[in-house]
Amino acid sequence: MTTDASTTNEPNAAGVHWDLSPLAADAAAARAGLAEGLDRCRAFAERYRGRVADLDGPAMAAALAELAGIDNLLSRVGSYAHLRESVDVTAEENRDLSTAMDQGMVEAGNLLRFFELEWLDVDDAKAQAVADAPEVARDRHHLVSLRRFAPFTLSEPEERMLSERSPAAASAWQTLFSQVVSTLEVPFDPGDGETPHTVDRLLAYVRNDDRAVRRRALETLYAALEPHTPTLAHCYDTLVGDRLAMDRLRGHGDPMDPTHLRNELDRDVVGNMMAAVERHYDLAQRWFRAKATLLGLDRLELWDQYAPLGDARAVRYDEAQRIIDTSFGRFSPDIAGIARGFFDERRVDAEPRAGKRGGAFCASVAQDARPYVLMNYTDQMNDVMTLAHELGHGMHFTLSNRDQTALSTHTGLALAEVPSTFAELVTFDHLLATETDAGTRRALVCERVEGAFATVFRQTVLARYEQRAYAARAEGQTLTADRLSEIWMECNRAYYGDAMDLPDGYRLGWSYIPHFISTRFYTYAYVFAHLVTLALYARYRQEGPEFGARYMQFLGRGGSGAPAELLAPLGVDIAAPDAWDAGFAEMERMIAEASA
Ligand SMILES: [Zn+2]
Repeated sequence: MTTDASTTNEPNAAGVHWDLSPLAADAAAARAGLAEGLDRCRAFAERYRGRVADLDGPAMAAALAELAGIDNLLSRVGSYAHLRESVDVTAEENRDLSTAMDQGMVEAGNLLRFFELEWLDVDDAKAQAVADAPEVARDRHHLVSLRRFAPFTLSEPEERMLSERSPAAASAWQTLFSQVVSTLEVPFDPGDGETPHTVDRLLAYVRNDDRAVRRRALETLYAALEPHTPTLAHCYDTLVGDRLAMDRLRGHGDPMDPTHLRNELDRDVVGNMMAAVERHYDLAQRWFRAKATLLGLDRLELWDQYAPLGDARAVRYDEAQRIIDTSFGRFSPDIAGIARGFFDERRVDAEPRAGKRGGAFCASVAQDARPYVLMNYTDQMNDVMTLAHELGHGMHFTLSNRDQTALSTHTGLALAEVPSTFAELVTFDHLLATETDAGTRRALVCERVEGAFATVFRQTVLARYEQRAYAARAEGQTLTADRLSEIWMECNRAYYGDAMDLPDGYRLGWSYIPHFISTRFYTYAYVFAHLVTLALYARYRQEGPEFGARYMQFLGRGGSGAPAELLAPLGVDIAAPDAWDAGFAEMERMIAEASA
């Protein structure tokens, strides 16, 4: 075969489809794999149920190897089904296969749950001895970190009661929230006729180049939200009340503690980070003033925040591949080689087409398989950054799958976005060093600044808002729409200062954000990852190519340690008082470039 679809020069990456055959031959083979995986789960349960406390180091190592084997098989066939469905969600065969996999995964989870619960029950001294055994060294962190939830876990009947009542007590409010927000549709005319618009579609106009359209889109959004805010506030109030009650039962001292525990970050590290971000709000305000000048305005209104600056040229998919190859190659030839593997082995699906899902992702697939990237490539410069981002995840998965077991390969939320953000920065730098088109350069530097702000500053505003809401609720105040609006505006005014006018409707900005409803304090992990990446990038700038090898080792360590442990060899000490300075210095540099 000499034709390679992945080197297309057609518009919109025509013909760039992935090849899933290394994962499974067809749907029947995937179903057979699922059945085999479930058989192995049953055999595992039969062999180990009631015995976890008796396992010594070598026996534990054998059990973990069996678990890893099951994980590999089920992840591989499950990924096959979901990847297939994601490029054709309308095909019945794909949907049936996907449903069968979902049900199978729930069954596997139920069959294997005993292992974790019994492991949490092992007494501390015994558990320590097992975890320290040389035979389980590769999964030591996995074993030890599972037990961090033990002090906050209730007795088995209590846990069962809580989980049985959870659908009515908590999930029902989340469902109501997402039903209200996702079914909200209002007529809006962006200039080519009035059509029904969802919340997401209205929000997309904040990047429109027509100021009047941007303003009308946001005003339409706020007007549409207004009648629903009592319901949305009530959903949130109930969930916060429930979470605070659970914290009391489980013995958590602070409403952020369960999130810190999951992220393996200390309360102080996160507290210092958020305070450091807030001390630098003036950086953002400086940019908002500079942007007003660039747009020829006295002052920015909220709807100008993401107004496009500069007109980026089109980039065909084959050029995007060359850009990635050169950018990554400048950082490390090995990294570029891994990226080439995605293209050469047809592990990227880039062509947008009917029935394919939107957005982009990188699927890790399985520890003994190779990752895949899905995106919808439309010849925009933004798509190059998306491709770099997803391949950044791809580097991480490739190296951690190579070096870690199936149980230790996955990184927690706090570090998951580091390799993807790093890959974007590497690509930005290369593009800025070589791009000659002025409009494209302007668009790139602005996007880099605004991307960093939207993550570092704005997600901190969101986390601070949540903190204030939980504190108010803990003091016995009901979280009404008015009260939430008040807290929301206070947190936002601190950020925007007098550099941006906030319209009255913005007081409802809290009401449609899904993170508050689904997972509390989720957003600070984005802040953490972005600041860590900027700090790493500053190191790379200082150290040059030598940094590349250490960075690759970091990627290869996957989830085999807590974030503090994994970052230390790279020279980033997240507990140090000046931990975040390098990140803000990088942001200063970016603003200077973008304002010039
Ligand atoms: Zn990502």
